[in-house]
Amino acid sequence: MAGTARSLSDAQPSDAQLSDVELEELDGRFEHEPAEAVVAWAVEQFHPRLSLAASMSDAVLVDLAVRAEPSIDVVFIDTGYHFPETMQTLETVERHYGLNVRVMGPPSEPAEFWKKDPTACCSAYKVAQLDAALESKLAWMSGLRRAESPTRSHARVVSRDRRGLVKLNPLATWSDDDVARYVAHHDVPVNPLVAKGYLSIGCWPCTRPVEEGEHARDGRWAGSSKTECGLHV
Ligand code: SF4
Repeated sequence: MAGTARSLSDAQPSDAQLSDVELEELDGRFEHEPAEAVVAWAVEQFHPRLSLAASMSDAVLVDLAVRAEPSIDVVFIDTGYHFPETMQTLETVERHYGLNVRVMGPPSEPAEFWKKDPTACCSAYKVAQLDAALESKLAWMSGLRRAESPTRSHARVVSRDRRGLVKLNPLATWSDDDVARYVAHHDVPVNPLVAKGYLSIGCWPCTRPVEEGEHARDGRWAGSSKTECGLHV
């Protein structure tokens, strides 16, 4: 989990156009580096053409990123279907870190689109908005972790996304305990829904709290075969 940050720039290519082979090498190397080192490398390599997509479940990655670069571009995808607690957390995070989060949306789609076609709904409300947010960027980061669900158990720390951008998951190797320790140690804002069993928080029509023994993301699109919204494909 967390450790001492150090710059890797002396050993990294200065050109932001990294090849797939270079990304694979970096991924193998960052597997054993603390999240601070991954974030520091991303900032050094890509800022200001680097974004952080925040879901407002907690602000662990925001905290790490702001320490590395206070003017980091933080993006929040507003679907219009967020819990009030999530929108309150957005305000809390902005205040706590002095950030002006770039809020995308919400777009106007048919009412209750999620009832008719959840895949199309996620595509319009989430994926298309992230596409727009990342238009001028070279890389982006998310707080995705392997421990969240079996379907995320092979998530890479560094990869290339379908847009051709470098995708970083600096917390990929973190356990739930790692997150709890960091939150407590750094006084990080957390969405109040987490304490009510919502261990992965999305839109209210598609999220329920999880039971003892369930994975964090078992409460997302429960009762359907859908496991991802498409943001991390
Ligand atoms: S999570 Fe549900 S409400 Fe939110 S964009 Fe996806 S289908 Fe629509």
